[in-house]
Amino acid sequence: MARVLIIGCGGVASVAIQKCCQNSSVFSEICIASRTKAKCDALKEKLEGKTETKITTAQVNADNVDELIALINDYKPELVMNIALPYQDLTIMDACLACGVNYMDTANYEPEDTNDPEWREIYEKRCKEEGFSAYFDYSWQWAYKEKFEKAGLCAVLGSGFDPGVTQVFCAYAQKHWFDTIDTIDILDCNGGDHGYPFATNFNPEINLREVSAPGSYWENGHWVEIPAMSIKREYDFDQVGHKDMYLLHHEEIESLAKNIPNVKRIRFFMTFGQSYLTHMNCLENVGMLSTEPVEFEGHQIVPIQFLKALLPDPASLGPRTVGKTNIGCIFTGKKDGKEKTAYVYNVCDHQECYKEVGSQAISYTTGVPAMIGAMLMLTGEWNKPGVYTAEELNPDPFMDALNKWGLPWQKIDDPVLVD
Ligand code: NDP
Repeated sequence: MARVLIIGCGGVASVAIQKCCQNSSVFSEICIASRTKAKCDALKEKLEGKTETKITTAQVNADNVDELIALINDYKPELVMNIALPYQDLTIMDACLACGVNYMDTANYEPEDTNDPEWREIYEKRCKEEGFSAYFDYSWQWAYKEKFEKAGLCAVLGSGFDPGVTQVFCAYAQKHWFDTIDTIDILDCNGGDHGYPFATNFNPEINLREVSAPGSYWENGHWVEIPAMSIKREYDFDQVGHKDMYLLHHEEIESLAKNIPNVKRIRFFMTFGQSYLTHMNCLENVGMLSTEPVEFEGHQIVPIQFLKALLPDPASLGPRTVGKTNIGCIFTGKKDGKEKTAYVYNVCDHQECYKEVGSQAISYTTGVPAMIGAMLMLTGEWNKPGVYTAEELNPDPFMDALNKWGLPWQKIDDPVLVD
C-alpha cells in the first residue's frame, strides 16, 4: 500500500501509470503530475472506475525545484517516479533529497541546452578523459550517491527496457549462468511498421539526439568511438526476421563496464530501416536536428523542437503500428571452466500492447519495467540507501515480475553471435 508521485504523462508514463493501476495492492494511491495537466486529467478519466488505485492529478514544471518541493510536501509520496524527460533528472533528485523521498527514472541526465558554457566545460573535460562524446552520462547522477546514502534514501536510475531490463538480464546472467562474462552484445530490434515515412517511437528530440551521435563501445578497459552508423551488422531476430542493425552509444554500457567484473567488450546495436536513416541524414544535413536556437521572423526557434512539433506524436502511433520488438543480450563467457554463450530476450507485439493499454510496444517495453522497478522499491526488495543502476540490484524478483507483468523473457543457449 503506497502513495506514489508520477511525473510526466507522455508515451512511457501513460503505460507505467496503467500498469500501476493494474497493481493496486502496491500502488494504492498515485498522483499524476506533468507540465500539461489536461493530459493527466484525461488519463485519470480513462482509468477511473477500472482500478482500485486512487488517482489525483497536478500541474508541475519539473525544471523548477521549488515547485517540485511544494508538490512533494503537499502529496507526501513514498516514491517519485520521474517519467518526464532526462532534462529533469537533477531537479527532481534535488527535490526528493529536500523532501526525504525515494527517486527513480528511466533515462540518465542530459542537459536541454548543450550550449550552456558551464555544462559545456565539464562535458568537454569528460569527453577527453573518458573518450566518448555523448551528451548524456552517469557522472551527474552518480555524484548524488553520497547525498542519498547520508539521507537514507534510494535512487534507482534507468528502470526502462534499455537501460533497465538489459542490465537486469546482465545481472541475472552473471548470477545464474556464468562465472565470468567476457562480452555483452545488447540488441534492440524494432520490427514494427507504423506506415509513416518517418516518425520516432519515443520523444523525437531525445531519440534523434541519441541516434545521430557518434557510436561507441567498451573494449579492454576503454571506450572506442566511431562515426554515427558506421558499424552495421545483420541479425536474424526470433519472430521478427532479418534486420540491419547499427552500433550506437548507449547509457547502460557505461554502468555495465563498471559493474560486470572483468568484462572485455560491451556493444549496443539498434535496428533501423533505410527510410528512417535517409530522413535522419537529410534532416541533420539541413540543420533540423540542431538544438541551437535560430531567429526566424522575429522568433527564436530551436530546430529540433520545431521538428518535434511536425512529427507524429509517438503516443499516436499505437493504433497503426504492427509487428514485434525483440530486445535482449547475447553473452559469451565461462561457466565451470568451460566456454559458454547465451542469449536472453523479450519479444513484444505492438498490437497486443495497443489492445491492452492503447500504446505501441516501445512505450510498453519501457513503461512496464518502470512500474516493476517502482514496485520493487516500494516492497523493499530494491530499497537501500544510495544511487543504483539496475545491474547493482537483485535481478531475481525483477525477472519474475517481467514474466508476470507482460514482458516474458526467453533464453537460448549457443545463439548465433554478432561478429
Ligand atoms: P514524452 O515526450 O512522450 O513525454 C514526456 C512527458 O514529460 C510529457 O508528459 C511532458 O509534458 C512531460 N514533461 C516534459 N518536460 C516537463 C517539465 N519541465 N515539467 C513537467 N513535465 C514535463 O516522452 P516519452 O514518454 O517518450 O519518454 C519519457 C522518458 O522515458 C524519457 O526520459 C525517455 O528518454 C525515456 N525512455 C526510456 C527508454 C528506456 O528503455 N529506458 C525508452 C524510451 C524512452 P507535456 O505533455 O507538457 O509535453
